[in-house]
Amino acid sequence: MSDIKTTDTMLEVRDIKRDYELPGGFMKPKKTLHAVKGVSFKLERGKTLAIVGESGCGKSTLARMITFIDEPTSGDLIIDGKKMDTRPGHLTSDMRQKVQIIFQNPYGSLNPRQKIGDVLGEPLAINTDLSAAERRNRATEMLIKVGLGPEHYNRYPHMFSGGQRQRIAIARALMMNPKLLVLDEPVSALDLSVQAQVLNLLADLQDEFNLTYVFISHDLSVVRYIADEVMVMYFGEAVEYGTRDEVFSNPKHEYTQTLFKATPKADVESIRARIAEKKAASAA
Ligand code: ADP
Ligand code: MG
Repeated sequence: MSDIKTTDTMLEVRDIKRDYELPGGFMKPKKTLHAVKGVSFKLERGKTLAIVGESGCGKSTLARMITFIDEPTSGDLIIDGKKMDTRPGHLTSDMRQKVQIIFQNPYGSLNPRQKIGDVLGEPLAINTDLSAAERRNRATEMLIKVGLGPEHYNRYPHMFSGGQRQRIAIARALMMNPKLLVLDEPVSALDLSVQAQVLNLLADLQDEFNLTYVFISHDLSVVRYIADEVMVMYFGEAVEYGTRDEVFSNPKHEYTQTLFKATPKADVESIRARIAEKKAASAA
């Protein structure tokens, strides 16, 4: 291997901001809330950036901007080398497909009347001219990739557990071969043992498809497990940004120091042990 460093940036965010206009009331003027106040970072292909911070600090707002759900007030978004035109109606469907989002609660984003096979086949039906049989094959393959099986094809969302539903949401997100996944608290609603399984799945899929992840979490033990890089947000700003080891071993900002003190080390050790156990069990 040569030691010339090549960079392959998947996502670059430059000084991105998002304001919300809050309605005024009787004798009260309108107010502007600065939800994200100029955040910048670069993320290499195949890597995971974890974004941490307390509720309300702007993580989901940032996630929505990166995935084109919410338009930035200002700043640039460069995805796979292309500067995005984020104005409504200016994004090509090709660009939209490159970036997918996974939410905390997959149930909310699954149509209760739609069979799982159809949930997975839908993006193909909309965006490709594959035959029904080919769509069915692709959906079945993807069910298997996320640890479900062909027997699940004709079932409805309510027939699955929380962890299985999150697997379905992941499978649907992957149907159009995206390059970047934004995961907004994807395991926060799951039991601890199920969290570890879904995290392992995400790690395997990242390797298999060379996916880039922006992984939002308030759980430092999860972040320690999955992140290559970590950004800590505080009131709309990035107060810390570096490699996982830098941020964990030498947090610079007072907020990060307090945040890290509040998480017992035992949590980190126990989740690591659990994940190692699962890996050993599934390899056996
Ligand atoms: P987090 O995901 O870190 O909990 P959010 O991005 O959801 O934070 O919220 C950041 C701030 O922006 C909060 O003060 C929140 O109340 C506000 N906010 C988020 N979405 C909206 C919206 N659609 N309209 C007005 N304010 C919003
Ligand atoms: Mg949020």
